[in-house]
Amino acid sequence: MGLETTDKIKYYLIGFGLAVMALTAVFKIEWQWAFLILGCIGLAVMIYLAIDPVWKKPKLTLQQQTILLEFDFYKKLNSVERKEFEYRVSYFTQNKEFMGKKDLVVTDRMKVLIAATLAQIGFGFEFISFEDFDKIIIFPKAYYSKQTGRYHKGEVNTSGVIVLSWEDFLEGFRIADDGYNLGLHEIAHALRLEDAIPGDEYHFLKDTDLAVWNAVAETEYDNIRAKKPSFIRSYAGTNRQEFFAVCVEQFFEQPQEFYNALPQLYKAMASLIKQDPLKRKR
Ligand SMILES: [Zn+2]
Repeated sequence: MGLETTDKIKYYLIGFGLAVMALTAVFKIEWQWAFLILGCIGLAVMIYLAIDPVWKKPKLTLQQQTILLEFDFYKKLNSVERKEFEYRVSYFTQNKEFMGKKDLVVTDRMKVLIAATLAQIGFGFEFISFEDFDKIIIFPKAYYSKQTGRYHKGEVNTSGVIVLSWEDFLEGFRIADDGYNLGLHEIAHALRLEDAIPGDEYHFLKDTDLAVWNAVAETEYDNIRAKKPSFIRSYAGTNRQEFFAVCVEQFFEQPQEFYNALPQLYKAMASLIKQDPLKRKR
């Protein structure tokens, strides 16, 4: 590596010298001027290379943009937010590995809608790339798990994989206000894990927000465990992780009803994930 770099510098210097000589010979300008002109060109190239990645922010294709118009959350964003959302969706479509199982062919629509769900949950934060989840496995429908001996609609595991049944993902996404959304549910699990796994994206949920959330959630969690009626559906009583994931589904899909039934819990969620769907509702 070291030698290569030294070689490169050597070639650049030789090239620079030759260019100065060529300029002085061909255009009959003094070498000082040739030196200055080439120096400026070199500097411009260096600046260009430095800011180039900014210009090359990932962009959605026209087809992907059309698909995104199916996405309810996106439709409610203003034009500035839409640009940012598109950038994030594009980042996920390009940087995550999407794998189809059971002969499922992964389409652009699958990539865009799943990527949009990742972007939706993290949209209140500066940018969460879900760095610890680089693989998204898609089954055509609910799949049999050898570990549990049951059929699963989705799961998230710490080896960096988000698994989804496409049939159930679509079902959750098709009815936008029933409080069921598999994509949001699984990615909500991924969000909590991402926050818990040490790395670049570690501990982005604020301690103070978490403390408020835990305190408010505990009451409702106990209610559900005690089989008392609750706005939050009963599956949330499985454990605290499921409680959070179910709350995320209902938070995005039924914000007004959620707020009316459990205002403190709603506000705690809005603070925790730094966004409030009610403020966006049109
Ligand atoms: Zn779950």
